[in-house]
Amino acid sequence: MRKPIIVGNWKMNKLNSEAKAFFEAVESYLDGNEAATYGIGAPFTCVGTCVANKKHMVVAAENCHFKDNGAYTGEVSVPMLVELGVDACIIGHSERRQMFAETDETVNLKAKRLFEAGIMPIMCIGETEAQFDAGETMTVIHDQLHGGLDGLTAQQVGSMVIAYEPIWAIGTGKSANKEIAENCCKAVRDVVREMFGDDAAEKVRVQYGGSVKPENIKDYMAQPDIDGALIGGASLKEDSFKAIIDATK
Ligand code: 13P
Repeated sequence: MRKPIIVGNWKMNKLNSEAKAFFEAVESYLDGNEAATYGIGAPFTCVGTCVANKKHMVVAAENCHFKDNGAYTGEVSVPMLVELGVDACIIGHSERRQMFAETDETVNLKAKRLFEAGIMPIMCIGETEAQFDAGETMTVIHDQLHGGLDGLTAQQVGSMVIAYEPIWAIGTGKSANKEIAENCCKAVRDVVREMFGDDAAEKVRVQYGGSVKPENIKDYMAQPDIDGALIGGASLKEDSFKAIIDATK
């Protein structure tokens, strides 16, 4: 039985001074007995504050480097995240693939380094609108998973989160309907099964992401292969994050 995991991705939003108030408000709303795990992916500048103020939630960084140190101006290494106490790290988000040269190969290196450090990867995959229109969604899912998961163990893959986020649904308000979302999350699980076997496929948690909000999250969560959501815009305000909790706890 997979425990759903719902994670807000703040992206490049929220000052450190705003993170504490958010965590205080949301943590006081949770008692740890909810059916799902809740978490926040936070900018590096407020990860420490989020960790210091978390009780039941998990805190994720939004990126990491795969090297431990060196001349990589502006980058943050996994040991730096370990020191801050993060639980998870988002890797391969489409915004990083499109704007910051993230590739399946670097996603794979990051996943391996995170596992070594005991930090759970939340690996994002998903197709562009042009690929969706061209009927290439399943090929993209297959290729990104083969690249990103290469060389991991079945046990590792079973313990991680994979977020299927169609790029055309991110920040557009044009969410994938529940049939498309389920079909693609099932395809993710099928590729995991083909690569790592039944046990990993049954354990890996697959999130849907792309314009998820309090009004539609229940529809997604009712699908058999959707184990949670990665939520951008609707995770920024305490009230809408609480409404997401209300809809899923
Ligand atoms: P939105 O929920 O704002 O569409 O963002 C989705 C996303 O990119 C989460 O990682």
